[in-house]
Amino acid sequence: MAHDAPSGPTGPTKLVIRNIGLLLSGDLEKPILDADTIVAENSRITAIGRLKDVDTEGATTLIDANGAAVTPGLIDSHVHPVAGDWTPRQSQLNWIDSFLHGGVTTMISAGEVHYPGRPRDVVGLKALAITAQRTFTNFRPGGVKIHAGAPVIEHEMVEEDFKELAAAGVKLLGEVGLGGVKDGPTARKMVGWARKYGIQSTIHTGGPSIPGSGLIDKDVVLEADTDVVGHINGGHTALPDSQIRCICEGCKRGLELVHNGNERSALYTLRIAKEMGDLNRVILGTDAPAGSGVQPLGILRMVSLLSSLGDLPAEVAFCLATGNTARMRALDCGIIEVGRTADFVIMDTAQHSAGRNLLESVQLGDLPGIGMTVIDGIVRTERSRNTPPATRVPFIVK
Ligand SMILES: [Zn+2]
Repeated sequence: MAHDAPSGPTGPTKLVIRNIGLLLSGDLEKPILDADTIVAENSRITAIGRLKDVDTEGATTLIDANGAAVTPGLIDSHVHPVAGDWTPRQSQLNWIDSFLHGGVTTMISAGEVHYPGRPRDVVGLKALAITAQRTFTNFRPGGVKIHAGAPVIEHEMVEEDFKELAAAGVKLLGEVGLGGVKDGPTARKMVGWARKYGIQSTIHTGGPSIPGSGLIDKDVVLEADTDVVGHINGGHTALPDSQIRCICEGCKRGLELVHNGNERSALYTLRIAKEMGDLNRVILGTDAPAGSGVQPLGILRMVSLLSSLGDLPAEVAFCLATGNTARMRALDCGIIEVGRTADFVIMDTAQHSAGRNLLESVQLGDLPGIGMTVIDGIVRTERSRNTPPATRVPFIVK
């Protein structure tokens, strides 16, 4: 079920979602909105409010949410795509489409490191990054937005390489530490070059993930000063708590928690971020595909884990997977507000959850049931094939 990006309606579109039972904004400042209707025209949100107060005339698509909740599309801040909807890591096809069924509408590459025979020479690694950026812009499985083309830095690189990558459309660095550069001073110099040309950076934090990667400790993380502290809870092997605390307190960069990491360390990091009043720095990823496989429900599982065991209201936990990531990654999705892209997940309490409503069920550690996903104002999936079935399911009126 993979589609190229250009498919979809060619004329003007107007999407109306009515009868929303709960509207989660993705914005930490105000996680719950008092509204039951969203209007989106030509892929952007144009109105949010009560049905009687907004202009729903001329809808080309009308969805009745049937009292279910609407959230922004979930963002996975840490994936390792290779080519199209195939990953050689566990020889799987259609893993991105499966993530869409877990509510993920945007993915950010932390490096195309599983590419068989990945080139490590400068010309080769630049070519691979530019190819990945191009191919994932042109090919979006299920409509999922994949920000890819994330080169992994090597010692032979010079400033001109970063300038050239940026001019070619590369906007991300792969995890520092997955290539030859594992020392603080070199990483800092190259991350600085990347930043100068508008390229965002992240770093592999903790012990080696698979044979061939290495340890990156707090001193290297703090010296490298990447925009995001990639999987601060390890991928899988986490740093000692004392080092995690040092990183949280020693910088103001993003603190990324991943599914394929140490769950106890994720909860520890969350606790420190809360104590510091820095919840806005916490973002979520899966770090899939990985040795642990791919996890289509990984982001939902992180939301549920942090909410239930980390004592975080569910509506706040959803912000870590949406608005926080969008702000940190400068994306125009992730928050339900006028002007942003119309990427939504319609979800409800899973059938037979002990929770009386969606938020309570997540706080009890259950996963929600997804009834529909929307990307760029276009319905992409109806009832999820992967989540537990939702109690109330939205339907397309026209
Ligand atoms: Zn990593």
